[in-house]
Amino acid sequence: MTRPLLDVEGLTKHYPVTEGVLRNEVGRVRAVDGISFTVDRGETLGLVGESGCGKSTAATTTLRLEEPTDGHVVFDGEDVTAYDDRALKRFRRRAQMVFQDPTSSFDPRMSIGESVAEPLRVHGMRDRERRRRIVGDLLERVGLDAADMDRYPHEFSGGQKQRIGLARALVINPDLVVADEPVSALDVSVQADILDLIDRLQQEFGLAIVVISHDMGVVREVCDRVAVMYLGEIVETAPTEKLFEDPQHPYTRALLGSTPVADPRRRGQGTKLTGDVPSPSDPPPGCRFHTRCPEVIPDEDYDLDAETWRAVLNLRLRAASQGIDIEAVRVYAAAGDDPEAADPEAVRAEIREEFDLPPTLPDPRAEEALSGALDRLVAGDADGAAERLGEAFPTVCRRERPGLVPDGTDLSADEWAAIKEFRVWIATLVDADREVVTDRLEARCANETNREGSVDRLAIRAAFRLPEPLSDSDADRAVSAAVDSLLAGRAADAADELYDAFGPLRESACHLNRRE
Ligand code: SF4
Repeated sequence: MTRPLLDVEGLTKHYPVTEGVLRNEVGRVRAVDGISFTVDRGETLGLVGESGCGKSTAATTTLRLEEPTDGHVVFDGEDVTAYDDRALKRFRRRAQMVFQDPTSSFDPRMSIGESVAEPLRVHGMRDRERRRRIVGDLLERVGLDAADMDRYPHEFSGGQKQRIGLARALVINPDLVVADEPVSALDVSVQADILDLIDRLQQEFGLAIVVISHDMGVVREVCDRVAVMYLGEIVETAPTEKLFEDPQHPYTRALLGSTPVADPRRRGQGTKLTGDVPSPSDPPPGCRFHTRCPEVIPDEDYDLDAETWRAVLNLRLRAASQGIDIEAVRVYAAAGDDPEAADPEAVRAEIREEFDLPPTLPDPRAEEALSGALDRLVAGDADGAAERLGEAFPTVCRRERPGLVPDGTDLSADEWAAIKEFRVWIATLVDADREVVTDRLEARCANETNREGSVDRLAIRAAFRLPEPLSDSDADRAVSAAVDSLLAGRAADAADELYDAFGPLRESACHLNRRE
């Protein structure tokens, strides 16, 4: 097992929301909220989700084009989040970004050759002729002509500019390229060419690539693995074909709802995503997807199908948030007559229709609760109706936040999060000698030492919140072996033990998939 090139753990980017002349912080936009993923050398990982889910911010904070609020980015055994300016400059040689809009990413006053050679110049290559030779060679590799280097951006089409953008990203021979929506600004007719080119360059240069996209078709085309993001969190990761054949998370299923799939019996096929992504400044409690999830878990006391339960919850959520404009409903129900004199039964029916609720719920208890809430609404008691709906229609999906759990293990979400934190901490020490490993371990475990004041197995487990034993025996063996290697000062062995056992596992975060 080789260690991944990139191990991102708990990456977080919050933007403060301020108010007044003193700019007091009154809230936070949680653009990225504790995401973890790995990318192997030569692997293409897709980060996919609707616009506004935080995937572009995940890219810019991973490359430290923006400062992360929290978390770690370990690149080839070094923590990028701890880099000073000099180390950051070195990192920029090895990790490049390709932007969505190829037009705005070029200076119109610079020739293509100058733009592509710019990173070489910035990183100290003074020989102009050598720069031109490298640029000419790269332009040919991306399907253009070496002679194009003396032309200007406006002389090229969007697809050609994206080829030039790729040449510029590759000019300093990076190990990692992050491509943010590399084809979304392009004509459909040239998208496939650019995706083929990315695929070819990836193989030719042995690159690790992160492709950011809102388009499932794009990630299917070029990615080995996919991480699905929703509202600042990763909700599922899987090898690409597995994700398409057997998606584990309802959000992934909904994203795929309009994409043709191989198995027509697949669960969730045809579910469509409705509604907008909620604001990251006020994400919903529990599972962030519960306000839109077509499979949101019904209260076990009721016998309602998924569609009806979704409709009931939509009413419940609306009543609790924006509220229901009962005066507007009366106007509809009155059908041109005096709204004040509208028949209460017609008003109730109008609300049911608006929320796709049947005239009577099939479960008598649920119907009683719903009718009671509608009566309050019609009587003008909006708060009472919201309260009644909230009490009568609970869901675990709103109450509890599901964490990512790896497929095929018995680990809990907390255990899995602790293992990833432990693994990334060790990954920064793989080149350190025994003394350094021991010093760092002592510092990390200072509050957990045994009676003699020394660090032992229990101290390490306590410092990293790793219960003994873990719920999964194989995982426990791997963690125990890593702990022993660490105690012996062999961080590289400890890292290998953990990456061997917990390589790129399938994960998903949904109460439907949790083990009882
Ligand atoms: S926990 Fe699963 S079922 Fe519940 S809302 Fe979230 S994604 Fe849907």
